[in-house]
Amino acid sequence: MRHYPCHRCDNRLFFDNTQCLVCATEVGWCPGCNALVAMERQANGRYRCVDDGCGTLLVKCHNYAVEGVCNRMLTAQEADQGITLCDCCRHNRAIPDLSIEGHRERWAKLESAKRRLFYTLDLLGLPHEVSPDKADPPLSFSFLADELPVEGGWHSSEEGMPVFTGHAGGHITINVKEADDVERERLRTDFNEAHRTLIGHFRHEIGHYYWELLIKGRVEDACIAVFGDHRHPSYSDALERHYQQGPPADWREHHLSAYATMHPWEDFAETFGFYLDMVAILDTAGHFGITPTGFDEDLDAMLYTFGRLSLGFNEMNREMGLLDLVPEVITPTIAAKLRYVHEMVLSARHADAASQQTLA
Ligand SMILES: [Zn+2]
Ligand SMILES: [Zn+2]
Ligand SMILES: [Zn+2]
Ligand SMILES: [Zn+2]
Repeated sequence: MRHYPCHRCDNRLFFDNTQCLVCATEVGWCPGCNALVAMERQANGRYRCVDDGCGTLLVKCHNYAVEGVCNRMLTAQEADQGITLCDCCRHNRAIPDLSIEGHRERWAKLESAKRRLFYTLDLLGLPHEVSPDKADPPLSFSFLADELPVEGGWHSSEEGMPVFTGHAGGHITINVKEADDVERERLRTDFNEAHRTLIGHFRHEIGHYYWELLIKGRVEDACIAVFGDHRHPSYSDALERHYQQGPPADWREHHLSAYATMHPWEDFAETFGFYLDMVAILDTAGHFGITPTGFDEDLDAMLYTFGRLSLGFNEMNREMGLLDLVPEVITPTIAAKLRYVHEMVLSARHADAASQQTLA
């Protein structure tokens, strides 16, 4: 993640800010210049991006202006067409039931993690279309809680139904309790995980999405050669075996986590999620001057820099009594899986750039 300058006072703006903490100017994410910018209030609740080269006329996303869980803008042109949600909130199919205490705060954390995910996907040039005309499948999200009152049903699952965090056909569901620190930490220790974070859930589930969008029915054989055959055993058989027998003793040799041993689809999603972790850390290190460059199209250079950063940051976290920043160990087998993901990302990135050139 990078930081942005306030155009009014030159203070540093951070990705989640809604106002400059020094000069109190309102700030928002401008889709015209793809940056967090200071905004000048206009008539009729509109704003103008004060970036000299941009100047786009903007309107706050409904979830920014009314709900207080977003900091993105849409263009006045979009607002005139009746659009009320930003390019990030537009993907929501179901939001938490806000009549339940604490749900608005949890929803804000979910949206913040989603915006961060989209920042990294945009950095990589990976598509995340919401319209079925543009992607098969399009991408959508639901944030649901296990048990909800009967009232307000359009937001909720059926009463008493457990909600499983997961992906199906382009639709990502995240259980709202994952945004509750106590609940999430309890689950982390129950499942004996090195990490359990909201952003981690988003990065894992989007891995399943890209498997479906970019690999399924296209290049499955090449993926099978690296991750194993996802058809044998079936997902449900693999799940049952995993919860009965646990992971093999030597799982660290071949997998990033014990959960990744469950089935090739989970191995792919865990690897994809870790790849996004790596890109995000390298990008941040580059923008904050910790390393000379950020994301690199050369995987060997990425792995080398990331390895050096991890050693230092793990020790810093230990100094502060925190969990290791990077508990994963990259063995040669795991590096080969990361290479597969890296090449898949690069070909999607270049295909996207080529299609944009054709359009221009
Ligand atoms: Zn300022
Ligand atoms: Zn702008
Ligand atoms: Zn929004
Ligand atoms: Zn999964």
